Amino acid sequence: MYKFDPGAIRIGISGCLIGQLVRFDGGHKRSDFCTEQLARFVEFVPLCPEIAIGLGTPRPSIRLINREGMLLAQTARGEDVTERLRACGRDMAARFGGLSGYILCAKSPSCGMERVRVYHDSGKGNAKEGTGIYAAELMHALPLLPLEEDGRLNDPVLRENFVTRVYALHDWQCLVHKGLTPSRLITFHSRYKYLLMAHHRDSHQALGQLLSDLSVGVEQKAEAYIAGMMQTLARRAGRRGHTNVLQHLQGYFKGQLSSRQRQALARTIHQYREGILPLLAPITLLRHYLEEHPNDYLRQQVYFNPYPEALRLRYGI
Ligand code: SF4
Repeated sequence: MYKFDPGAIRIGISGCLIGQLVRFDGGHKRSDFCTEQLARFVEFVPLCPEIAIGLGTPRPSIRLINREGMLLAQTARGEDVTERLRACGRDMAARFGGLSGYILCAKSPSCGMERVRVYHDSGKGNAKEGTGIYAAELMHALPLLPLEEDGRLNDPVLRENFVTRVYALHDWQCLVHKGLTPSRLITFHSRYKYLLMAHHRDSHQALGQLLSDLSVGVEQKAEAYIAGMMQTLARRAGRRGHTNVLQHLQGYFKGQLSSRQRQALARTIHQYREGILPLLAPITLLRHYLEEHPNDYLRQQVYFNPYPEALRLRYGI
């Protein structure tokens, strides 16, 4: 059982992605991003579901088969392992309550999140339209958990989005661990204002409505709140969303900056919007101005530091 630990961000991962020799052919699919960068900040909880259900290595490969609309996982020897993989997914989901994210191996009939090849039962034809059996159970049982595939993590926007969601969920889990109170909920919501706005302009206000009356039903409202928040953060924050937030933040410094500083900030935001500079450029400038002109409300905004800067995620978006 992986209980939540506020001191460690735990991410589940397909065992082959961290170099375990668990693939059907005895190999691995080590991910450099996971093992060399992310591993410096998080604790991985590796699992190979095919090994967990007792298939050894090397082993016959598995295929997804569409039999009258039902998805089955069958080994090359014709053994049906669907139910065992499902049970493994349910079992692991029950034990993985303390995780803040999960990284799955793409294209796998067990671990793949989407576009896994599915064969027709007749033996004729196939289509990339399935979800791995183990992954489907995890997604169903842990709907809040940020999930991503190794291949998609090579895309800077998807990578940044996944890490943002992991850190946000961990922050929420810390709040729940500490104990939910109306004032803590409001403070949490206030800290996420600009991050939420970057992902969807009106989401902060809409989520705020859920917390407008916390005199009763705090737990239920908190559940609805975090579900809405994770859905919002799963939307990609594009240049338009970030530019909107940057311009809002710019407004806080209107009366404090010289005209030369104001122009430099406006130019940097414009160059970011045009794709000439990465997001890091205007954020760095704003952080600098925030140090020069302290503002407690802005300082607490997660938007400025949603994850460790050393991950260098804002260089690429
Ligand atoms: S993709 Fe999943 S089932 Fe396949 S080797 Fe990796 S961890 Fe095991």
